[in-house]
Amino acid sequence: MQQQNSNLFEFLEFHRAGKVVEGAPVCGLTLKAAGSMRFRWNETNQNRAKVFRSLGSTEGAIVPVQLDHTHIVYNVKNAGDTQDKIGDGIITVNRSLIPTVTVADCMPLYLYEPETGVFGIVHSGWKGTGIVADAIKLAEKDYGARAQNFCVVIGPHIRACCYIVNEERAKWFSENFTPDCVTPLEPGVKVSWKSGGGTLYRLSLEKANLAALRTAGVPQENIWIHPACTCCTKKNGSFIYGSNRRETSENGRPDAFTVMAAFIKSI
Ligand SMILES: [Zn+2]
Repeated sequence: MQQQNSNLFEFLEFHRAGKVVEGAPVCGLTLKAAGSMRFRWNETNQNRAKVFRSLGSTEGAIVPVQLDHTHIVYNVKNAGDTQDKIGDGIITVNRSLIPTVTVADCMPLYLYEPETGVFGIVHSGWKGTGIVADAIKLAEKDYGARAQNFCVVIGPHIRACCYIVNEERAKWFSENFTPDCVTPLEPGVKVSWKSGGGTLYRLSLEKANLAALRTAGVPQENIWIHPACTCCTKKNGSFIYGSNRRETSENGRPDAFTVMAAFIKSI
């Protein structure tokens, strides 16, 4: 496992039945300390370029996509294949590429199928939940990959300790994924955002995504789950992840939060 720039990056590994999968790509995430990794095709983000340079990877290896909470996944052969594209997932078999999305409470899911060598990453916010199954289906169709072989890493995201949603959203999750991914909020809990009234619920994106992965045919033992909550996990007394919900409620500005880059790399 790579240890460089440990204040800027966190690296995670694929596991199967508790053991590290040898020869797999490495899953990466920039931390809050790395600053904003926001990406738009029509914007230049000097900080992002600098942080990726410090990763030691050639800039041309990064494969970005402009996110929009969709279920669109691209299968790419070259770094330029996503140019000007909007979507929320990338798969490839080209080990010289670094598929990259951004997250700030949304869940990054990293994928690897050892038989075909397909690997990739998806951005799964609430609206896009289930996109991980779309990525697996695309790999099955384009490469003959099999869901049962896929290894998945569920990256840091906002957890049920902090992710409180309204009744409409809770109902949508309960009906489309699994009823136990939502639980009514206990009485007396203070909510810092404008909920619009009505019954509130805690939402577990982990349980919703595990249900989607189960339905897709990925064995539980192939899934490794990061324990942190992007909204409340601290290290040495400080928040280490960017969080849309925490940072926007702290500073009252809807655009001021730290977007982190999630990427998967072999080089
Ligand atoms: Zn939390």
